[in-house]
Amino acid sequence: MPIIRATCQTCGDVELAPRDLKVLVCSNTGGTTYTFLCPGCGLVVSKATDRQVVEVLVSAGVKLSFWRLPAELEERVDGPPLVVDDLISFHFEIAEPNWIDRLASSVRNQPDTDG
Ligand SMILES: [Zn+2]
Repeated sequence: MPIIRATCQTCGDVELAPRDLKVLVCSNTGGTTYTFLCPGCGLVVSKATDRQVVEVLVSAGVKLSFWRLPAELEERVDGPPLVVDDLISFHFEIAEPNWIDRLASSVRNQPDTDG
């Protein structure tokens, strides 16, 4: 089994088996990272990398996983930004009974902005 040498910011170089690492590819951006749990300090180490390193790692047996950015990032945002007063109002709103019913009612009464 190949041994892969990687670097932890705290421990320096560590040796890992392919099963100890994971390559992550963002389906939205194509960005690639590899990640592992450091055998020295027990912290998760994650590093951005390039296609060549990904190919070497995967050919050595490292598992490849794809992930997507949260769909919320693609949502259209209308209206003014949230301010502290909004949070304070929300805090008092949810302190009252039946707040979820009032919230649902106010959302149903909003004009349709999806076009
Ligand atoms: Zn470490």
